[in-house]
Amino acid sequence: MTDATPLPDLICELCRLFYGLGWVSGTGGGISIRAAEGIYMAPSGVQKERMKPEDIYLLRGDNLDQAVVLQAPRDPGLKISECQPLFYNAFRQRDAGAVIHSHSIWALLAARLFSPQGEPGELVCQGLEMQKGLRGTGSLDTLRVPIIANTARESQLTASLSAAIDAYAKVDAVLVAGHGVYIWGTDWVQAKTQAECYDYLFRALVESQRMGLPIAPRTQLEKHP
Ligand code: ZN
Repeated sequence: MTDATPLPDLICELCRLFYGLGWVSGTGGGISIRAAEGIYMAPSGVQKERMKPEDIYLLRGDNLDQAVVLQAPRDPGLKISECQPLFYNAFRQRDAGAVIHSHSIWALLAARLFSPQGEPGELVCQGLEMQKGLRGTGSLDTLRVPIIANTARESQLTASLSAAIDAYAKVDAVLVAGHGVYIWGTDWVQAKTQAECYDYLFRALVESQRMGLPIAPRTQLEKHP
């Protein structure tokens, strides 16, 4: 399936879809896509479902040490997303083609199940079919996703997010306690697919807990009856 949609238009379209899922409400969250000509990124603090293609930044893709603007939005009052250094972590450390930041309530609640005080931790999920939508993961595997503690400013997450990306090479996601999740892929299609599968799994864990069903894999339950 080929898609000739210009990437600034595609970012606006995807943000409208994500808004409908509750991933980018209240101006939070978003998506950044890397292409041959550079990195496309939304501005900070704008209503993500109402962005226009001319609002999207184009940044240099060959310098991931800092954000270098190739093309700025027409509105001079805009500034680059606070997520920029976090998106760059996934581009630099994983050679990602796209990164999604979601403020989904399911990501927040799932992280709370495993890190009730907002402390660093690990989400564990096992035996769910939708795990197959995640890179290198089967439905019977045990999935482990890192949880990092939140900070006052989004950019202050950069070091802990980077450490979690290094420590959990098998997964393409990092949860942020009390906040949301960062998910990436080799391109925007894989990033979106994985973000949808993660959101499903997070919701399955939260709803299981609500219904009094076991949420942890058997081995964990045996350790903590
Ligand atoms: Zn955020």
